[in-house]
Amino acid sequence: MSEERSLNFLEEIVEADLASGKSTQIHSRFPPEPNGYLHIGHAKSICLNFGLADAYGGKTNLRFDDTNPATEETEYVESIKADVRWLGFEWEEEHYASDYFGQLYAYAVALIEKGLAYVDDLSAEEIAATKGTPTEPGKPSPFRNRSIEENLRLFAEMKAGAYTDGEKVLRAKIDLASPNMHMRDPIMYRIKKTAHHRTGNDWCIYPMYDFAHGQSDSLERISHSICTLEFEVHRPLYTWYIEQLGIFPSRQFEFARLNLTYTVMSKRKLLQLVQEELVDGWDDPRMPTLSGLRRRGYTPASIRHFCDRIGVQRRENIIDVGLLEFCIREDLNASALRRMAVLDPIKLVITNYPEGQSELLPAENNPEWEDNGGYRDLHFSRNLWIEAEDFMEVPAKKWFRLAPGTQVRLKNAYIVTCTGCVKDDYGKVIEVHCEYIPESKSGQDSSGIHVKGTIHWISIDESIDAEVRLYDRLFQVENPSHEEGDFTSYINPSSLTVISDAKLEASLGSAQQGEHFQFIRKGYFTIDSKHAAEGKLVFNRTVTLKDTWSKESKKG
Ligand code: ATP
Ligand code: MG
Repeated sequence: MSEERSLNFLEEIVEADLASGKSTQIHSRFPPEPNGYLHIGHAKSICLNFGLADAYGGKTNLRFDDTNPATEETEYVESIKADVRWLGFEWEEEHYASDYFGQLYAYAVALIEKGLAYVDDLSAEEIAATKGTPTEPGKPSPFRNRSIEENLRLFAEMKAGAYTDGEKVLRAKIDLASPNMHMRDPIMYRIKKTAHHRTGNDWCIYPMYDFAHGQSDSLERISHSICTLEFEVHRPLYTWYIEQLGIFPSRQFEFARLNLTYTVMSKRKLLQLVQEELVDGWDDPRMPTLSGLRRRGYTPASIRHFCDRIGVQRRENIIDVGLLEFCIREDLNASALRRMAVLDPIKLVITNYPEGQSELLPAENNPEWEDNGGYRDLHFSRNLWIEAEDFMEVPAKKWFRLAPGTQVRLKNAYIVTCTGCVKDDYGKVIEVHCEYIPESKSGQDSSGIHVKGTIHWISIDESIDAEVRLYDRLFQVENPSHEEGDFTSYINPSSLTVISDAKLEASLGSAQQGEHFQFIRKGYFTIDSKHAAEGKLVFNRTVTLKDTWSKESKKG
């Protein structure tokens, strides 16, 4: 276990279980339902399950919880496997709850034979309506006391397809007066004449979550079955099935799910965003999905560090999305190559630098590395691109960038003195003019001049064009799921800014997918995988250099 932090409550449980001999091996599982892409909340569960097993010499299974034929697809199975591997984890065994359909059916028969389950002809609505309230017991169904023989026959007929959807269900016979509503004769099986993505039309009855999950855990000899807090009330039922069947005693433990500010996390809502084309698919760089974060430029390490930092709690909370951004910034600051890119170009002419002349100036690849990560050569000449916002004809107070009469340093190059600008017929500035100071060359500056501002630039002759995409939070409110009305009405209309004519350092033309760059003063960027596949050079901004957003929001 890492020594810097104290144990979380699950580690304490595991250590106690190992010490008492209650567990001899730690065996966890990650059990996604293949009805959508994994999101950052799942990453918390993955890191927790795999991390716990790793820490105590155990193992972790990947189990697809595919008991609902209507919503599941093979595309999701494949994406889930790719995402777990990308995060850096490898599972011990791969399972599908649907592989257990035969065994689960046998378990159901065993409960009928023990007089602990019955076929009910009431509809789902009637069952819900007769369940009572937490303070009032439920009403027994008129079919509750069917004989074991009749129940066995009817259940076999359900399986054989003799009835239509909803005509009959199998219920556990537990306690209609239980203070826990989940124990009031819960449904075990329902009829659904829908093809399943793996078992096809083999089955027309499907087990409910509660009748599949614990038994699947037990079949895989899972010691610690970890799930989110909303399943706490299901735990007595989880344990009841296992005890009545007398099978391997897996145990369930609950932790608080991850909630992030300015983010929706439920797969149903993410699916809605995709289906209504409010985003560019599950991997839209604004989505909290792992595929979206990957396309945005998040690294697996940054997500694992984030999961470490947030820890594991037993109480619902909401984490500031700024912490996730902090984690990727920290990672990329250490690893990303520094490059120059001008996102909103305006021409800078160095009037005392001769036409046709040029020179190569060394620039560090990453000042965080030993020897600055080596140097690349920047092409310097008379005509450069700079950011339009780095020039003001009438400067504001405390303006340290270009304005007539001011001096700035061109990063890795010279100090220049601004001499004026050229405007078009409409009064728009189209060129900025400067004179450079030859003795002020970076690294060998003997000018004795001190300037407060440094700006980035690119030689016009050696720049390439690219599209650059800037992202802001997808939602305008902190907790879109808790606002009135449909959450989609809180989408931030300016969450995507497309810059079609950015000017980049020529070396970025050969950037590869998966590489990360710091565009000096502009943030961290990566190649957009989707457009790369189409042969188009598009960079996504992963994150800004500083948290400008929270400062602005505080300003109001
Ligand atoms: P959603 O509500 O987003 O559809 P889910 O819980 O239905 O999520 P599953 O595919 O069933 O999604 O989840 C697989 C595992 O991931 C479960 O163990 C679940 O508890 C866990 N998980 C899902 N969402 C979160 C979250 N936000 N934080 C932590 N764990 C989560
Ligand atoms: Mg689920």
